[in-house]
Amino acid sequence: MNRLFENQSIVITGGGRGIGKAIAFSFAEQGASIAICGTNESILKETASELESKGCVVMWKKADVSIKEDVENFSDEVLKKFDKVDILVNNAGIARDNLLIRMSEEEWNSVLNINLKGAFLVTKSLIRPMMKAHYGRIINIASVIGIRGNMGQANYAASKSGLIGFSKTIAREFATRNITCNVIAPGYIQTEMTHNLDEKLKTKILEQIPLGFLGESCDVSEAVLFLASKSARYITGQVLCVDGGMVI
Ligand code: NDP
Repeated sequence: MNRLFENQSIVITGGGRGIGKAIAFSFAEQGASIAICGTNESILKETASELESKGCVVMWKKADVSIKEDVENFSDEVLKKFDKVDILVNNAGIARDNLLIRMSEEEWNSVLNINLKGAFLVTKSLIRPMMKAHYGRIINIASVIGIRGNMGQANYAASKSGLIGFSKTIAREFATRNITCNVIAPGYIQTEMTHNLDEKLKTKILEQIPLGFLGESCDVSEAVLFLASKSARYITGQVLCVDGGMVI
């Protein structure tokens, strides 16, 4: 069988669990080699061995995307192992919700540092080999909250809006090198991040989703695969909402 991403190497930040893990498995099924990072070593190790048991070549390293030194060490190891990076998925992200009036500087900084500065550091550390190869696919995972805003999420919305602006700029700066950069803006996807929503809030959220159900990680990973595939070669600087119609 012809697999779509045979001989390609993919870096996925936050690939140990949640949406990032689903993305890793979708690429692995299509023959790609995978590098994942995150801050939880045991989760990364477990996911890496699950991927290996499916015949995938995997590299993992504990790295906090908001720390430059961690990112550089991770990138060095990725390039040592794979020699090139075809696809980068900036997926690592956190939420620390609070109304603005109560939001601490620490809550603001941690979300901006991981969700936005993290994507900057990782992209910067891996863009040179893509430039050299005259090929690259960068897919950044933002959120519909970065488009619509949301009560209690000033930090998160700012980070995801920032990620959209960042991505559009990367798309322009590197287009002549055949490097595309696109954004996926998921709506509500069932993962640990949304696990703790109370039932009342869930019902309220469902009322805003025309398709009437919460998304799953595979809905996002399928969209990532599309944007990384040959079928999307003429698409760059775009935001694809995977949200059941929340943003129309
Ligand atoms: P999870 O909380 O399930 O997973 C978050 C991932 O990010 C984990 O793999 C975690 O790894 C990693 N991560 C967190 N902090 C860091 C850090 N400092 N350095 C490196 N990795 C880190 O979230 P989801 O899977 O739901 O979210 C994935 C992405 O999708 C995020 O960017 C999120 O904002 C976005 N998103 C999610 C939505 C949803 O409804 N679930 C909706 C819209 C967007 P570790 O624990 O090892 O650090």
